Amino acid sequence: MQLNGHIKAMITSLEDGTAKYQLPIGEELINMNALVGKYIELKYNETIKCANCGAITKKSWSNGFCFPCTQILARCDLCIMRPETCHFSQGTCREPEWGLDYCFAPTIIYLANTSQPKVGITNKKRLYNRWIEQGVVSAMPLLEVKSRLESGKIEVALKQFVSDRTNWRAMLKNEFEAVDLASKKAELLAQIPGLIEELGATLLSDEIINIDYPVVKYPTKITSLNFDKTPSISGVLEGIKGQYLLLDSGVLNLRKFSSYHLTFTS
Ligand SMILES: [Zn+2]
Repeated sequence: MQLNGHIKAMITSLEDGTAKYQLPIGEELINMNALVGKYIELKYNETIKCANCGAITKKSWSNGFCFPCTQILARCDLCIMRPETCHFSQGTCREPEWGLDYCFAPTIIYLANTSQPKVGITNKKRLYNRWIEQGVVSAMPLLEVKSRLESGKIEVALKQFVSDRTNWRAMLKNEFEAVDLASKKAELLAQIPGLIEELGATLLSDEIINIDYPVVKYPTKITSLNFDKTPSISGVLEGIKGQYLLLDSGVLNLRKFSSYHLTFTS
């Protein structure tokens, strides 16, 4: 199989407890799970097309945009990384209509185990997608609120007691601590009863979701591959976790190369 086109971050879904990955390339979708254990080749053709305006850009900004678009799109604003700084109510959202849809939707604050316990937030509809994109091995929802701003306030409060970061190298090596999510959850919520009440957050049930990844062999040493340095990347696809392809030649964070024009051969 050989396909050409600009790629986007892999589309994820959870099926029978296993992460499924599809790579959009041009108008096609590649079923990546089916390629695990096989030799693949990805060749970068030195063209990046902005995911918003379609302009050809020398450098990709914010995972796939041209620089001018990063200055006008709300999804490239700092408040996307730090939801507690949402400034919609001040009337300064770059794209109020987009913001209304994106930032005022049911949002979940969760506790997950990637390599160690971490707290995070996401749109309720994208809960499993988010977990898969982060390489979460098990997770439990904590609370539900009505906006990203509220979820950000809770996340900031919880950050004093638990990390909000993923150690991506440990995640890729599949090294993780055994964590009792239910007792960690009880411990965390006991720290912020006032904030939960103030925001009217809904307490969610202690349901644990475990996620398996399509991996035949985890790397023991992490070598990062990069199309800007190595335009032609190939190897046996030993697995997929988070947004990373685990090749026998190194790991490739595909999200980082959204909008790159590739030739994909398997
Ligand atoms: Zn653009």
